[in-house]
Amino acid sequence: MFALLCEELARGSMSLAASVSMQCLMGTHFIYRFGTEEQKQRLLVPAIRGEKLGVIAMTEPDAGSDLGAIKTTARREGDDYILNGRKIWVTNAALANFFTVAAKTDPEAGFKGIDMFMVERETPGLTVGRDITKMALLGQGAGELILEECRVPASHLLGQEGTGSANLQAILAEIRIMMGSLNLGLGRAALDAAVKYSQERIQFGRPIAKFQAISHKLVDMATQLEAAQLMVYRAASLLDDGVRDMKLASMAKLFASEAANQVADGASRVFASYELATEYPAQRYFWDARFLLLGGGTSEVLRGIIARQMDL
Ligand SMILES: Cc1cc2nc3c(=O)[nH]c(=O)nc-3n(C[C@H](O)[C@H](O)[C@H](O)COP(=O)(O)OP(=O)(O)OC[C@H]3O[C@@H](n4cnc5c(N)ncnc54)[C@H](O)[C@@H]3O)c2cc1C
Repeated sequence: MFALLCEELARGSMSLAASVSMQCLMGTHFIYRFGTEEQKQRLLVPAIRGEKLGVIAMTEPDAGSDLGAIKTTARREGDDYILNGRKIWVTNAALANFFTVAAKTDPEAGFKGIDMFMVERETPGLTVGRDITKMALLGQGAGELILEECRVPASHLLGQEGTGSANLQAILAEIRIMMGSLNLGLGRAALDAAVKYSQERIQFGRPIAKFQAISHKLVDMATQLEAAQLMVYRAASLLDDGVRDMKLASMAKLFASEAANQVADGASRVFASYELATEYPAQRYFWDARFLLLGGGTSEVLRGIIARQMDL
């Protein structure tokens, strides 16, 4: 159901779909699983109602794919943790009420040293920095978060100390299926727009869809999308049955994001000049699809992960 929700929202607006899906899965997941009852009532329930916004802050200026290289630390001091570090590309940072922040409780332990903390916006020592000006996802912001001697109670550690990386890994399949679903929605929207335009646009006395070069392009786009949908739905359906197939989830995200980019590129070619006109949607699909190539793992990184899963 969550996969279908992501797909349908992404058919209308990737900005909205990405905001909603990130809050649903990554921005609130750790509170849902590990938060105290008081935190759940104060933050999670309003977030589900749409009255509060929870976001995820993992990426740093020097640590994107290589999450184990984050420099944000969480130092225990009595009943509190003190957080120091800098985050970037935090979706909706400027609007968020609370942040799930990845920080190292053991700076020497690489990826395994990461834990997750719930940090509320009003916490002294937390500053929301600038929003990045970008080409894609124009309906949502992505900004910086600065943590300077930011003190949070020990109850804001989400899970047991030392288990954050394992808890994150436990939802990686969900994250990849979610990203795959976003691709399906965007791809469907781009294909539908291109088909409609190709039937309306007349050149040389006929709709451009009647030129084989255009119709075959549309056929290839539809075929790519159909294949992507089968993979994403299969991974989602297996998950429903309690089977967490990481290889399939990674493959589904990889294939769906490459397919969505081919579809968005194909749609742009069908629109030709109007691809570049902001009053037409093709440019939006093209740029928003670029985000899908990296969110939830870049294609290069995913190929490396799948290769390891194939014992290569
Ligand atoms: C619009 C937007 C919203 C985002 N929202 C959030 C958010 O809410 N929270 C959050 O924490 N982050 C967010 N991010 C950050 C996003 O998750 C990272 O950008 C992503 O993890 C990639 O990191 P990077 O851009 O630093 O690329 P890098 O990791 O620097 O990669 C650069 C290049 O090197 C390649 N590469 C890196 N490592 C390997 C490897 N081992 N093998 C092969 N190739 C490799 C990559 O594939 C890529 O081509 C967002 C990003 C964008 C653009």
